[in-house]
Amino acid sequence: MTTNDELRGRFEAAFMRNYGVPPVAIARGEGCSVWDVDGRRYLDLIGGIAVTSLGHSHPALVEAVSRQVATLAHTSNLYLHEPEVLLAEKLLALLGEPARVFLSNSGTEANEAAVKIAIKYGKTHGRGYMVATENGFHGRTLGALSLTGKPAIRDQFGPFPLDVRFVPYGDADALKSAVTEDCAAVFLEPTQGEAGVIPPPDGYFRTAREICSSAGALLVADEIQSAIGRTGHWFAHQAEGVVPDVLTLAKGLGGGMPIGACIGFGEAGEVFAKGDHGSTFGGNPVSCAAALAVLDTIERDGLLGNVVTVGALLSEGIAAVRHPLLKGVRGRGLWLAAVLTAPKSAQVQAVAQEAGFLVNALQPDAVRLAPPLVITESDVQTFLDALPGILEAADV
Ligand SMILES: *Cc1c(COP(=O)(O)O)cnc(C)c1O
Repeated sequence: MTTNDELRGRFEAAFMRNYGVPPVAIARGEGCSVWDVDGRRYLDLIGGIAVTSLGHSHPALVEAVSRQVATLAHTSNLYLHEPEVLLAEKLLALLGEPARVFLSNSGTEANEAAVKIAIKYGKTHGRGYMVATENGFHGRTLGALSLTGKPAIRDQFGPFPLDVRFVPYGDADALKSAVTEDCAAVFLEPTQGEAGVIPPPDGYFRTAREICSSAGALLVADEIQSAIGRTGHWFAHQAEGVVPDVLTLAKGLGGGMPIGACIGFGEAGEVFAKGDHGSTFGGNPVSCAAALAVLDTIERDGLLGNVVTVGALLSEGIAAVRHPLLKGVRGRGLWLAAVLTAPKSAQVQAVAQEAGFLVNALQPDAVRLAPPLVITESDVQTFLDALPGILEAADV
């Protein structure tokens, strides 16, 4: 039998060093549990970074993917297939607005499509620059990276071909000053994810919509982490009562299968002409079947309601813990950060893993929780019961 330690050693020898060596080798999963290669069980409270919406090995996902891979795994974009049409129609029905869909394989590729729409829109209308937010995250490929406001992952790969102006997140006045008639697009997360699950002040997203509309700039909502039920809504922007010009999706959409989407509303959906963009794998039938199973299951099983009730239990349960290392909790639905009073998230993650819980040391002082949308109250209660002891053991 291969052990954790052995696999970690072989990983270190074979892979580039961009990830470091992850702490545990996962062998299988079922529901909200995963087991490592040594047979230890963990409650999965991070869900592959807000990806495994239905938990692990969900029968609907297994059935849809198995059936599709046995029927037709790939067509390329030289041919079309029914699963992609059904998926695009389903997304449009959930959005309820006239729009057009492009399917990609990942989040960063969804944003690359959005960047190209913004560039072409900018050229057509004589608009030369884009606006994004400090500490925002939009992906690792060069277009998306140039919009990512995190110097540590960005600066050494510049200069970038895009003129991007960064503004502090949540500051509507700064956004208003930055968005002139020369601005092509504003890229905005409804809540900053990688920065630490940081919701903006109430009304910020709505104000951003007004600022973009009056300046004639496209509002690109990066909902790669926030959509597909994560906050208790299909899409976080729907809670704000506004419609972006471009919407990007990925993470939770495929429930673990790689798929992303770039959706253009109204005029933004008409920017690409034939030949302007493409992807060999994007929208492949297996990933589309997976995404359809995810959306149908969320709907059929009322999972948005589960996100609201179980998310409130988790959030209020964390807020009720009194410990000197715990400052509080922020976020919405099943997308939360436990905020620490000291930069000890790595210790919290390690101690939690030891205790049988997978959580994510997102920032030095923030621990991310983004469990499957199917998580139950009793699973969450198990974690809440263990939390004071985890904080105590981490606070050394
Ligand atoms: C994860 C994420 C991305 C990048 O998605 P990948 O699939 O890793 O390329 C982009 N934007 C946001 C908001 C994300 O959370």
